[in-house]
Amino acid sequence: MSEQEQFDVIVIGGGPAGYHAAIRAAQLGLKTACIDAWVGKDGKQALGGTCLNVGCIPSKALLDSSKQFYNIAHNLPVHGISVENAKVDLKTFIGRKEKIVKQFTGGVAQLFKANKITSYFGTGKLLKGNQVEITGNDGSKQTIAATNVILASGSVPIELPFAKFDGKHIIDNAGALELDAVPKRLGVIGAGVIGLELGSVWRRLGAEVTVIEALPEFLAAADADIAKVAAREFAKQGLDIKLNAKLGKAEVKKDGVHLVYTDKDGEQKLVVDKLLVAVGRRAYTAGLLADDTGVKLDERGRIVVDEHCHTGVDGVWAVGDAVRGPMLAHKGFEEGMAVAEWIAGKAGHVSYDTIPWVIYTEPEIAWAGKTEKQLKDEGVPYKVGSFPFAAIGRAVAMNEAVGQVKMIAHAETDRILGVHMVGPGVSELIAECVVAMEFKGSSEDLARIVHAHPTLSEAVHEAALSVDKRAIHKGN
Ligand code: FAD
Ligand code: NAD
Repeated sequence: MSEQEQFDVIVIGGGPAGYHAAIRAAQLGLKTACIDAWVGKDGKQALGGTCLNVGCIPSKALLDSSKQFYNIAHNLPVHGISVENAKVDLKTFIGRKEKIVKQFTGGVAQLFKANKITSYFGTGKLLKGNQVEITGNDGSKQTIAATNVILASGSVPIELPFAKFDGKHIIDNAGALELDAVPKRLGVIGAGVIGLELGSVWRRLGAEVTVIEALPEFLAAADADIAKVAAREFAKQGLDIKLNAKLGKAEVKKDGVHLVYTDKDGEQKLVVDKLLVAVGRRAYTAGLLADDTGVKLDERGRIVVDEHCHTGVDGVWAVGDAVRGPMLAHKGFEEGMAVAEWIAGKAGHVSYDTIPWVIYTEPEIAWAGKTEKQLKDEGVPYKVGSFPFAAIGRAVAMNEAVGQVKMIAHAETDRILGVHMVGPGVSELIAECVVAMEFKGSSEDLARIVHAHPTLSEAVHEAALSVDKRAIHKGN
């Protein structure tokens, strides 16, 4: 039997959290291995996890393509440009996304090589004593060991027992990213981030999209003023969002998926061609842990960790979607890098309070920090400033003058506590506010910073001025 290979760090999972951990560990001079099981379309290993294969990147590719198509009919005529008979070639539309996915998953493999990370293709299982058993796709087994093991096994979609995924009629995010025809009627369960983003993609290509959401409130995690604008704009685009609606049954029949749901008016029926179920994701730990490792799972199946992503078992850490906190790629990036730094004896850090959220719909939605409701509930004294994109020259010139920036600052110290946006380019505008919040900045700090004219960033500047009731281009 060959000698067991020994590493400083083994990472299980090569998604955003895992590959960041592996690369940072290697940069710090640690002998690092990463094990990932994701099988690409070509049957080969595809690093990058959910984010690169069926998440962030492919969804943004399709959002961008569908936006170009939508603009032809809904934006270009305002500019005096008309295009007759615009058509979408779905093969090219999906193919472009596939190429982007391949470019980025291949890119991670290249980065692993460049950083001398040993990459294993297979399923890793943590054994007692920081050993890891790897089962290859051919069933072969080998065991490696390390001083530190980082668990980064990610998440999978939640399945509803009465609407099980069949990959054909009832689909998850992966299925909704590769439809071979635009469905005439698309049903979406869950008006969350995936439902809104992928619902938008197919709506823009012409599908009738009905979204069934259990909660009575739309986008409950966002600030209410922002959610209100977003709801109005999505309705204008033809996304039919039914709130306070509970799905009871989804039955696949010859003519489509027959749904029965209840809302405030009682029992309703709906037939759709495809049903996207996007009701959240759950941590994925199947087969990850031998029984005697001592690593604990919480009531939601997430790996239990402390504020340093440590599991409490000597040398075992966990990061990303598999642990508490928002399921966002950039949260995983930061945790992965911080753990590598802690392992190397450095001062890793994750700024959980300022993690930005972005929803890449049209208009985009972005926020960081607390909502007005959260501050009210916590009894924190605050003041609010806001500014509409309708009064921003650049937004009007772009014909995208919808939405607003809302800034909330502490009533006494003026420290920025939350910034909430809906409108053009807000996925980028939020970064400035995150920087200000990270540096414990005040609304006055942002109000005193010179913002280029004419840019969308002037909405942030004016919202900051508005906190002190001195916005220039609106009444205060
Ligand atoms: P994952 O990306 O899930 O990666 C885990 C990896 O570990 C996978 O490759 C899996 O195969 C592997 N693995 C699991 N168990 C084992 C094992 N035992 N052995 C070996 N390998 C294993 N987030 C954003 O921030 N921005 C976005 O725009 C965004 N868009 C999204 C769009 C969609 C449609 C979806 C579904 C998600 C989106 N997300 C987005 C969320 C983001 O994808 C996740 O937060 C992120 O991928 C989590 O990273 P992770 O590394 O923790 O897990
Ligand atoms: P989500 O938590 O964003 O939304 C799920 C929605 O489904 C919620 O509004 C919930 O109330 C609703 N719901 C739950 N059970 C239901 C039921 N039985 N019937 C009707 N509605 C029900 O989850 P998601 O959209 O599946 O996305 C999962 C996660 O992936 C997100 O929370 C986010 O962390 C990540 N993600 C991020 C981005 C981004 O950053 N732009 C994009 C996509 C996904």
